Amino acid sequence: MRKLDTKTIVVASHNAGKIQEIRDLIGPLGFTAKSAADLNFIEPDETGTTFEENAAIKALASAHASGLPALSDDSGLVIDALGGDPGVYTADWAETADGTRDFAIAMRKVETALEKAGATTPESRTARFVSVLCLAWPDGHTELFRGEVEGTVVWPPRGSQGFGYDPVFQPKGYQTTFGEMSAEQKHGWRPGDEQALSHRARAFKVFVETCLEA
Ligand code: IMP
Repeated sequence: MRKLDTKTIVVASHNAGKIQEIRDLIGPLGFTAKSAADLNFIEPDETGTTFEENAAIKALASAHASGLPALSDDSGLVIDALGGDPGVYTADWAETADGTRDFAIAMRKVETALEKAGATTPESRTARFVSVLCLAWPDGHTELFRGEVEGTVVWPPRGSQGFGYDPVFQPKGYQTTFGEMSAEQKHGWRPGDEQALSHRARAFKVFVETCLEA
């Protein structure tokens, strides 16, 4: 396991919601981070079929372009009643005819698919958010960290915080969706804490424990 020995990294993402969450997580650790969007890097095609492959594609592209270590996140919503869909294609379900992304449409698509599958009770609507973080160095070395959070898909959407599918995801043991939680509640984690809540914070905790701590 390679340790990270610099506090200057690139956040290998063009997704504003994700960049903000990664900044929230790395900020308290003293990192300075520009994003691939700030640096006008070209967004690489996510041609992988797993979260791990796509996370590595994004982190390596930013590490090579910047000459700095780069941290990416590939994530998605895995719904049991839909055979794991949308999974690695979670962002694609939000794509519109003009090439922009609309998550209200994406959440509606998920609901339509669940209704078609007959999944109308909370027990039949189990799902998990998955986040795979990849830290890549300019020499091509990569380290991967995975986090998952179990929950159910609710309808109608609730809350306007967070991003993406947050308003339809209610984590197990909670009465509120991610869309109804503040960033602090959604991550549920600060450096040194035992527990984390969100998939991204759980992956981040593994990253800190394996790549930062001596
Ligand atoms: P990708 O990792 O860029 O392929 O995109 C993952 C997609 O999953 C994002 O566009 C979001 O819509 C969704 N997603 C990932 N993490 C979250 C989250 O924490 N909240 C809500 N949606 C998420």
